[in-house]
Amino acid sequence: MKHWNEECAVVGVYGVENASWLTYYSLFAMQHRGQEASGMSVFDGEKIHTHKAQGLVSEVFDENSLQTLKGNIAIGHNRYATAGKQSSSDAQPLYARCSLGEIAVVHNGNLTNAKALREKLTSEGSIFQSFLDTEVILHLIAKSQKESFEECIKECLKIIKGAYCLIFVLKDKMIVARDCYGLRPLSLAKISTESGEGYIVASESCSFDLLGAEYIRDIGAGEMLVFENGKMTSMQIFTPRDFKCVFEYIYFARPDSQVFGKNVYAIRKEMGRELARECKISADVVIPVPDSGVPSALGYALESNIPFEMGIIRNHYVGRTFIESEQSIRELKVKLKLNPIKEIIEGKRVVVIDDSVVRGTTSRQIVKILRNAGAKEVHLLISSPPTISPCYYGVDTPNRQELICSTHSLEEVRAYVGADSLYFLSLEGLARSVGGGGYCQACFDGRYIKDCFGESEE
Ligand code: SF4
Repeated sequence: MKHWNEECAVVGVYGVENASWLTYYSLFAMQHRGQEASGMSVFDGEKIHTHKAQGLVSEVFDENSLQTLKGNIAIGHNRYATAGKQSSSDAQPLYARCSLGEIAVVHNGNLTNAKALREKLTSEGSIFQSFLDTEVILHLIAKSQKESFEECIKECLKIIKGAYCLIFVLKDKMIVARDCYGLRPLSLAKISTESGEGYIVASESCSFDLLGAEYIRDIGAGEMLVFENGKMTSMQIFTPRDFKCVFEYIYFARPDSQVFGKNVYAIRKEMGRELARECKISADVVIPVPDSGVPSALGYALESNIPFEMGIIRNHYVGRTFIESEQSIRELKVKLKLNPIKEIIEGKRVVVIDDSVVRGTTSRQIVKILRNAGAKEVHLLISSPPTISPCYYGVDTPNRQELICSTHSLEEVRAYVGADSLYFLSLEGLARSVGGGGYCQACFDGRYIKDCFGESEE
């Protein structure tokens, strides 16, 4: 694993015919947030129907399956496996039938008290069918004595801790909830089709563009939305406390998305400009490590007046299921993915820009590839600060001992990757690029919040 890995995309479509097709295209647009499994639940006016399986969106759904998912409320999910193990029972949405009726839910995030809640529920007689945190939510709702689904969900939200963007379908209603820190992104848009107007809620706004939906706003931290009888009602369940994941801007989100109200591409470009202001290098060419390094490299080139070139080409068709256990195979994988253009690199002093360094193995390979292509000098610049701490908030990260910047000095990391120089964007530069505070940057500074998230350290 080179990067921090995102763990899910969620989408909910309310109030338009063919909601399943719109959900399907949204999941397509957000495939980058999870490739292990995909699924959808649709309310057809009488019942909730669910289709889910392991695999990419294009593998899980076909015309036949979508034809059977008719209705005007649908929720969908792309899964990256973090909490739980990889099996089809761990694909989402999760469905249950309880005393108030049918319910299905999708969840992006990670509950930090799920283990304790699961143990308690099991000791009280609950039977679990998956390893997912999300199943705990369904059990809490089913056990609630409240008289409406809204009240049951509110009660459940007061018990669970951690990061969540939740979308429920409950017969003819859709309910959306976001944790009090707004850690993971969730946006709202209006959609118009021939059959009328409705709403769409999704992890990233790139899915709105595809459907011609009009972005309205982000769902607020601690906010709950109820879609019912063609209307949307908002209620604030918790006092909002800003702690949004800054890594969305660095790597997770697509550059064409609005995340936390800001365009990801513009922020990445600004990170490159900040990097150029902080670290001046005499070089002949600036090249990105594609794809996520491209906007930052462009920003660096513009600010430094050094020519920008696509000196490395990425092969987008390399599968994710490659066996990575042997070092030699891992090296081959990097070469399969990234190929240099010798004519751009040979004899040049190269500034190469990447978004982050995790174990250092990929950076080392990239430097080697550039040297083999004839680079005279290779200066590796990273458009984020050194990653020194794991994420406790639902993002799949290596443990601290595996993070090279946690266990080695900057000079040791430079020597390991084999670059002539190595520089990381400062924490202050990162804050300036994203336009101020209110972000979690715990993987860079080790400062976690205890009260909401439980199992963390300060
Ligand atoms: S520690 Fe914070 S900034 Fe880093 S990946 Fe996790 S939530 Fe995002």
